[in-house]
Amino acid sequence: MRFDVLTIFPDLFGSVLQEGILRRALARDLITVRLHDIREYATDRHRMTDDRPFGGGEGMVMKPEPLAACLQAVRNDGDAGPVVLLSPRGRTYSQRVAEEYAGLSRLILVCGRYEGVDERFRRHYVDEELSIGDYILTGGELGAMVVIDSVTRLLPGVLGCRDSAANDTFSRGLLKHAQYTRPRVFEGSGVPEVLLSGDHAAISRYRFLESIRETLARRPDMLAMVRFTAGERKLLAREGLLEEVEKAGARAT
Ligand code: SAM
Repeated sequence: MRFDVLTIFPDLFGSVLQEGILRRALARDLITVRLHDIREYATDRHRMTDDRPFGGGEGMVMKPEPLAACLQAVRNDGDAGPVVLLSPRGRTYSQRVAEEYAGLSRLILVCGRYEGVDERFRRHYVDEELSIGDYILTGGELGAMVVIDSVTRLLPGVLGCRDSAANDTFSRGLLKHAQYTRPRVFEGSGVPEVLLSGDHAAISRYRFLESIRETLARRPDMLAMVRFTAGERKLLAREGLLEEVEKAGARAT
């Protein structure tokens, strides 16, 4: 998958792309990330990418022409995919959106700065505005990194173990169960016995029930989206959790 990022601060992406899973995905050509410096498409003497807002007021607004010219250059380089503007006014990012994007071959991410981008650029060129949460960042770059990171780990071949992404929190609509590693005793606390038993069916049941209990305690709203198998429903009933789970799901819809 290829990501094209339009930004006035391409250097911000350096360390994020040079470490860990993203670095390996790049090295193995599972992803390509092209960083485009919007400033290079500004035509005035000072390479201005922002200007004062019409009507007055605080701050500066990103000019539409350098953004449009930069985007055109990206589009000239083949079928470019949807244009996503990082914006606090956009659709809220989630694992579902990440899964949607992971099905694309290309994605263009436009990073705003200052007070945001000129409305006409948004209207003429942007397919979707995307928010990474209800707070204000200084720029869209961190949002673009969040998207690149979370989409990349969903792409085939990126994670070492094929199951890793499928078992993540949010993939099924359940929070992930707690996890343990060595040592067996840490500061007086041990590990649940079942995890040491080698009984894979029992471990799987235990983890499922832990996921349910975590989700009930922290994010009962998520239970509205989960579809359980007949076996899971039986297990929930046996543990006296089925009614509570169904009630939480119904409350959230
Ligand atoms: N004045 C704008 C407002 O109140 O909606 C905020 C502009 S913000 C300081 C500058 C840029 O950061 C935005 O254009 C956008 O690209 C990015 N940004 C800020 N918060 C964001 C969020 N929650 N999600 C995605 N992008 C965000």
